[in-house]
Amino acid sequence: MNDIAKLVRPNILKLSPYSTARDEAGGAEGIRVWLDANESPYGEDGINRYPDPMQKRLKEKIAEIENIHAESIFVGNGSDEAIDLMYRIFCTPGEDNAVAIAPTYGMYGVCADINDIEYRPVQLNSDFSLPVERLLAATDGHTKLLWVCSPNNPTGNALPFEQLCELADRFRGILVVDEAYSEFNTASRKGKDLLKGRENVVVLHTLSKAYGLAGARVGLAFSTPFIVSLMNKVKYPYNVNLLSQTKALETLDSVDKIRDNIRSILAERERIGNILPLIDAIEEVYPTDANFILVKVREGRADDLYAHLKDFHIIVRNRSKTPGCAGTLRITVGTAEENDTLLEAIRNFK
Ligand SMILES: *Cc1c(COP(=O)(O)O)cnc(C)c1O
Repeated sequence: MNDIAKLVRPNILKLSPYSTARDEAGGAEGIRVWLDANESPYGEDGINRYPDPMQKRLKEKIAEIENIHAESIFVGNGSDEAIDLMYRIFCTPGEDNAVAIAPTYGMYGVCADINDIEYRPVQLNSDFSLPVERLLAATDGHTKLLWVCSPNNPTGNALPFEQLCELADRFRGILVVDEAYSEFNTASRKGKDLLKGRENVVVLHTLSKAYGLAGARVGLAFSTPFIVSLMNKVKYPYNVNLLSQTKALETLDSVDKIRDNIRSILAERERIGNILPLIDAIEEVYPTDANFILVKVREGRADDLYAHLKDFHIIVRNRSKTPGCAGTLRITVGTAEENDTLLEAIRNFK
């Protein structure tokens, strides 16, 4: 048994997955009459047919864009599916635990609770840098997962590649690096580069942010073919629906447009990042590598500013109660017009 297999729950390791009609047909090539899946013969644009359970075309497209083998790609119903699968594959309820940075994305903790897995948050340093030694010290023989998020939500900062390498190499479980905001991070080496020569890393990406497909629910995980095969075995057979697969393919066919959108968002991030510190109500603007900016409101008045913006029909994320982020609001970078509306409303705050 390889070292990673030893981390997998025994019931998952020996699981025989549900075999779909489409799996058994071994592909659509040459088939003229489909009478295997009790589908309706009536329907438009193929919507009467079950979608490809393994999202072959979508994976080929992603493989090309990301320069990664298709067998190393998992496609899920949002990255939230991949997050939940990590627990279901590696963590025995009531026995195993997961360590994570804090503050960070809430779903790692929620999925731990749902799966009855002890969740051990480790506060980032006060400048939001990675506490490598404290994270490793929080692990024990039952720690299967270590969650980091880079650029981190809600703090916005990307974590240094060398530190992620160190975590992956010293941790005896699976390091999950959530890079939902990867496309906004200009660092030269990122999560995917951690996969080279390592068996214990899972990198999460999503089409929900830079690709503009939050409504389609398409998340990605990159890892070894072994870990990806486990994810495929445990997922719902038809986890990504036909409409979403089609829309994702369409979007990935016009990556140039996406790249333009990313450039606009980065330019706006820089612009409002320069203006926000000049506004009286704002005490601090934290550096960001994502498509949002965390700001600290003066005199602990984050809740007041939040309510004020709401009166202007502007909604931002209130993080003022999050340990480590007291007094802060998280603001997504919008279009130039949206951002001007926001800046104007903040200037009006008394
Ligand atoms: C937005 C976000 C996601 C995206 O989740 P989806 O289920 O793919 O929409 C994942 N991780 C983090 C940290 C996020 O902020």
